[in-house]
Amino acid sequence: MTTSTTPATAVQGLPGLMMDIPLTVHFILEHAIRNHPRREIVTRRYDGSSTRFTYAEFGARVAQLAHVLAELGIAPGERVASFAWNTQAHLELYYAVPCIGAVLHTTNIRLFPEQVAFVLEHADDRIIFVDDTLVPAMHKAIAAKPSLAEKIFVVMGNAPHEPLPNERSYEALLSGKPETYAWPTVDENAAAVMCHTSATTGDPKAVLFSHRSQVLHAFATAFADVFALRQRDAILPIVPMFHVNAWGLPYTAIMCGSKLVFPGPRMDPESLYTAMAEDSVTFSAGVPTVWLALRDYLKATGKSLPALDRIVIGGSACPPALFDDLQALGIEVIHAWGMTEMSPIGTVNYKKGELTNEPAAARRARRLKQGPFSALVQWKVLDDDDTPIAQDGIARGELWVRGFAVARQYYKNDEATAAAFKDGWFTTGDIVTVDAEGYMEIVDRSKDLIKSGGEWISSVELENTLMGHPLVREACVFGVKHAKWLERPVAAVVLRADAVGDEVAIRAWLGERVAKWWLPDRIVFLDAIPRTGVGKFLKRDLRERYADLLADA
Ligand code: AMP
Repeated sequence: MTTSTTPATAVQGLPGLMMDIPLTVHFILEHAIRNHPRREIVTRRYDGSSTRFTYAEFGARVAQLAHVLAELGIAPGERVASFAWNTQAHLELYYAVPCIGAVLHTTNIRLFPEQVAFVLEHADDRIIFVDDTLVPAMHKAIAAKPSLAEKIFVVMGNAPHEPLPNERSYEALLSGKPETYAWPTVDENAAAVMCHTSATTGDPKAVLFSHRSQVLHAFATAFADVFALRQRDAILPIVPMFHVNAWGLPYTAIMCGSKLVFPGPRMDPESLYTAMAEDSVTFSAGVPTVWLALRDYLKATGKSLPALDRIVIGGSACPPALFDDLQALGIEVIHAWGMTEMSPIGTVNYKKGELTNEPAAARRARRLKQGPFSALVQWKVLDDDDTPIAQDGIARGELWVRGFAVARQYYKNDEATAAAFKDGWFTTGDIVTVDAEGYMEIVDRSKDLIKSGGEWISSVELENTLMGHPLVREACVFGVKHAKWLERPVAAVVLRADAVGDEVAIRAWLGERVAKWWLPDRIVFLDAIPRTGVGKFLKRDLRERYADLLADA
């Protein structure tokens, strides 16, 4: 007699006879703690000391945290926020929250207090896990939105701080809880993590990652021609865990059974160097600004990181000089491009160029591109007439993507969804070329955002604020190249008739209305702002005209 198991959904054709096990974060957790129980997780603390746990101990703590969440009444689908650096406790949240079926909302600690309040309200988080050293920033968010005081705050770490409302201690909550948990079966399409990203105008937009997308993303980024992660790697994620899941590393690294080294709140070059040197870190990832600082530190001190084998640079284009300097130090540079909406990996430029017989200069130029597309994404590039461009490395157009780990809409934001998602594709707002070998290069950006040191600044918000100045008739804000931050805002201003402009006074006025790091580095005065045929600001012209304005900065 033969038996058959009918899959949950009707299959056309002959059903495959493989097990139908959901792709969930719990699968990664269980694999890791059973098969790599002695692997280490290290966290550097605010005072320079560090904690060390094995995967087995980590697994026990994740179970304890799950008991805490259950006792606090967190139901499947409910949101739980983190406001934290890269630490083991943050990693515990990355597993415990999704594994009980709830959603971890990783909140960007660099947002203004009003924006922090907005995202916590938008996600409707009931519990907020806050790092001890970030409590002052959370107090500011509560001052901006007093109703936040009704949430439950759990503080991680024991650095002295002014207590938050309803504050609980993370360690006290975990203490004595059982070290195993009867994990529920979670649907692979259920939400696991939520992350807000900046909008051109208005409030941040939320991307809601499913378990399935995160597991597939972890598999695809571990590949040899992607991050090439191995058990023997020691991985230090510099990219924050509130920036698209530290590019997936909390899941990918644990899935691969690698050692993890978390830098905690100390992100200065010397602390990063010490963390890497003491634990022989082999792999790391972060935006160019941190690598520029670390490169300068290594050059100035003559120190080296012999164990550091390869690093991923992304979030902004990798400056050619940085690429050369790090390669010369024996550190393999992997240039990558991605987006919050893509979990984030889209392209990864790992050595593929060396497989061809190119001269060295051509190979270097190719490796400075954003790179070949991941197996996770399908892509097309459309010109202004919505016609696919030639794949010749010259024709340019807007990049559209779709795939296993690409969002299909934003959470509770129909307007932003309608603007960004079209015909089953996500429109990236990046203007690119793709060459015959499949290497994508970003040549421009159609979205009105400026990326400074890895964080977004909205040019439209700055323009609207500036146009509220009594002397300003028109203002156009655009990004200009900067050695340290890669891009900084510059404002072109047209004054009202007979008004007399004063850069210092207008900057001071603006400084009272926007966060300090948003303030344009320069304000230039023009008679008119160049426009397109349909009357939009021609920012490309201004970017070209003032390309060297901040060269001496
Ligand atoms: P985010 O969602 O904050 O990760 O930002 C995604 C955007 O950052 C992309 O759409 C690009 O505009 C930019 N970006 C990311 N990686 C790179 C890169 N390697 N080179 C140039 N721009 C990048």
